Amino acid sequence: MKTGSGPLVVEKGKLFTATGAPLIPDGCLISQDGIITYAGARAQAPPIPSGARVIDAQGCTILPGLVEAHFHPTYFNVAALEDLDIKYPVEYVTLLAAANAKLALECGYTAGRSGGSLFNIDVWLKKAIEADITPGPRLAASGREICGAGGLMDWNPEFRKIGMEGLVLIINGAEEARAAVRKLVKDGVEWVKTYPTGDAASPDINDHHTLCMTFEEMHAVVAMAHNHGMKVTGHCRAGEGIKNALRAGYDAVEHATFIDDEGLELLLKRDVPIVPALYFELASVERGPEFGLPQRVIDGHKETLEGGAESARRILRAGGRVGMGGDYGFAWNPHGDYAKELAFFVDYVGFTVVETLICATRTGAEIMGRGHEFGALEKGKLADILVVEGDVLGNIKLLQDRGKFLAVVQGGIIKAGKLLGTAG
Ligand SMILES: [Zn+2]
Repeated sequence: MKTGSGPLVVEKGKLFTATGAPLIPDGCLISQDGIITYAGARAQAPPIPSGARVIDAQGCTILPGLVEAHFHPTYFNVAALEDLDIKYPVEYVTLLAAANAKLALECGYTAGRSGGSLFNIDVWLKKAIEADITPGPRLAASGREICGAGGLMDWNPEFRKIGMEGLVLIINGAEEARAAVRKLVKDGVEWVKTYPTGDAASPDINDHHTLCMTFEEMHAVVAMAHNHGMKVTGHCRAGEGIKNALRAGYDAVEHATFIDDEGLELLLKRDVPIVPALYFELASVERGPEFGLPQRVIDGHKETLEGGAESARRILRAGGRVGMGGDYGFAWNPHGDYAKELAFFVDYVGFTVVETLICATRTGAEIMGRGHEFGALEKGKLADILVVEGDVLGNIKLLQDRGKFLAVVQGGIIKAGKLLGTAG
């Protein structure tokens, strides 16, 4: 991805660096060729370099670009399981994914980690974004997901006689688990996404307390993935599934909904990050009836919502790392609503605004394995910056309103916001 050439200055706004330092009321950020050279108080800032593009951020908050840590670029208005995989041909879904990536960037998300994708679309989307062919967040790709036969994602009835090779690799046993990872090695993914447990969405045979992979399968996935330098994560609701994932050596846990004391201890011991993706559950409860979700499914989402909120609180309070990502792309939880996750964590789960913003920036970058490159505003990091009108620390809901974005900056280049296309 190209970085800006020359100096960029963003000054006179409240500066939230996500480094753990207190908010700077009158801040200044200077970048040179896309790399931050100064982020601090304006009073102590070096002189503005000659020829700099200067953004007057008075009345604004300057913060790191957001990281969507559980991003499904290929999901689009999913209202039934079929919509995940067989509704559209791969050609059309690729175009939808590019549109979703552009939207995410416009929403202030300068980086994102895929939580699974139809075919290998996210791998190629990442390449296209890196080559500046199409705009979007800096991506970490997952490609196809892995699930045990008969598990949550093996939902297609046999009588249909159609394969499910687009979204998931269905496995039986450790040998097939290794074979599936080898396919993903060739695809070029960075994260292997698995399905250790079921979900409230499938109450009859794979509800949220069901296991969908054996420990042996999960361990085989990890050994093969780590051998090739890939990381492993998984959809984990049930407590036993969370513990299986942690014992098998997973690098992250998605949801971590029903974690128990033993699970928490295992999680903290290896400092494994989690991504709750929890607003989806509230949206499913509130808007489920409108979309015809059965009452049993809605009840399951309610249980998941409460369990997930309690687990996220416990994990953060115990010193664990939590990333913000939201499973957006469902009909009742559409792309573009990403920042609803953040306000939800403040209003419903009980995180502070500062905690939530650090989860949504620095922790997200760390989960992507790129914490040394972005996720905080400090010298030496990429100038991935969001400039928002108003006081975001006082009202995190401002992040939901793209009309308030002065600039979304990626590598020192203004990619979206009111200042897009304006000079000097
Ligand atoms: Zn997901």
